[in-house]
Amino acid sequence: MSSKDWIEKDYYAALGVEKSASSDEIKKAYRKLARESHPDHNPGDTGAEERFKTVSEAYAVLGDEKKRREYDEMRSLFGSGAFRRNARGTGQPGGVPFDVSDLFGGGAGGGDTRFGGGGFTDLFSSIFSGGGGGAARPRGPARGRDVETEVALDFEDAVRGVTLPLTLRAPGVCDTCHGNGAKPGTQPVACPVCHGAGVTTRNQGSFSFSEPCRNCQGVGTIVEEKCPECHGTGGVTKTRTLNVRFPAGVADGQRIRLAGRGEPGERGGAAGDLFVQVKVRPDELFGRTGDDLTLNVPITYAEAVLGTDLRVPTLDGTVTLRVPPGTPSGRVLRARGKGVVRKDGRAGDLLVTLDVVVPAKVSDEARAALETFAEQTPPAAREHLDARVRRFS
Ligand SMILES: [Zn+2]
Ligand SMILES: [Zn+2]
Repeated sequence: MSSKDWIEKDYYAALGVEKSASSDEIKKAYRKLARESHPDHNPGDTGAEERFKTVSEAYAVLGDEKKRREYDEMRSLFGSGAFRRNARGTGQPGGVPFDVSDLFGGGAGGGDTRFGGGGFTDLFSSIFSGGGGGAARPRGPARGRDVETEVALDFEDAVRGVTLPLTLRAPGVCDTCHGNGAKPGTQPVACPVCHGAGVTTRNQGSFSFSEPCRNCQGVGTIVEEKCPECHGTGGVTKTRTLNVRFPAGVADGQRIRLAGRGEPGERGGAAGDLFVQVKVRPDELFGRTGDDLTLNVPITYAEAVLGTDLRVPTLDGTVTLRVPPGTPSGRVLRARGKGVVRKDGRAGDLLVTLDVVVPAKVSDEARAALETFAEQTPPAAREHLDARVRRFS
């Protein structure tokens, strides 16, 4: 007997009993149906023979406490939000033919991540270990999902390190209906089209196709009165907040992995990891290249020519830099150790780029002084350009 049989066949329907039937009711129903359809009482009736087989097969499972539990567990899995989400998650549109065995192949485009990437194969092999219905092993632990999120840090927080509360949103099972989508006090009922199997079989020539039931979208059950919390989907968006420590020197574009801070595992499985993509907001003064901070400082032509001492800000104070006489525009001065300080004590530098600015307006006195200066100054070195200019004159 294959696990596929268990999904496709409704043994309760075969015996004409409720899912909640007691073992006595099941036994009674089986005896009655077995008697009626027994080949000895219906010689030559192949229909009765089929019915007898079906009834016997159903009783072999439902008449055995252990197997019945396994069967119920598997069908509730397919009849619950778990399968509903899986059917959507793999992008299977309702009407596309697919075989249930795809679900057991593991190659069917990504297993349900609820089961930690091992997908259904692992899950079912653990349920059905023992071949012909031996001892049921409990489902193994499943690792929780990894979670990706993005956070924007202020420039200084990124340089110094910061602890921030992160609010994460993730799909979770609705607490009101425990994921079955039914209004509290009601239960989902078996889909009348597929009788709870979730799949319908269509014959075409010598092929037969199994496809998800269109009436219930492959869930096997339908919800008559929807849960008000999740509107019948069985899922809600859950938020949780956790404090995340960003180390000093974290950079824009960096991806931080926080082991075990993803979604919790199931049945004692390890939690997934949290991956935080860091964005760093620009600072109005400082830029950053690795562990070095950068700063542009305007100076006058006179300061560049004569030299000066410049007092410039750092992130946590000031530093005085010597501009030597005759410094060209664009020269970079380095203040050692005034950049990003790492946890291990190593620090980058502050790189100061000097920018000689030209005043748009000067006073009459300044203009007169400048004209005197110009007379005393040799012309700029443009001879290499003059030759080319002469070609056009
Ligand atoms: Zn159905
Ligand atoms: Zn709900």
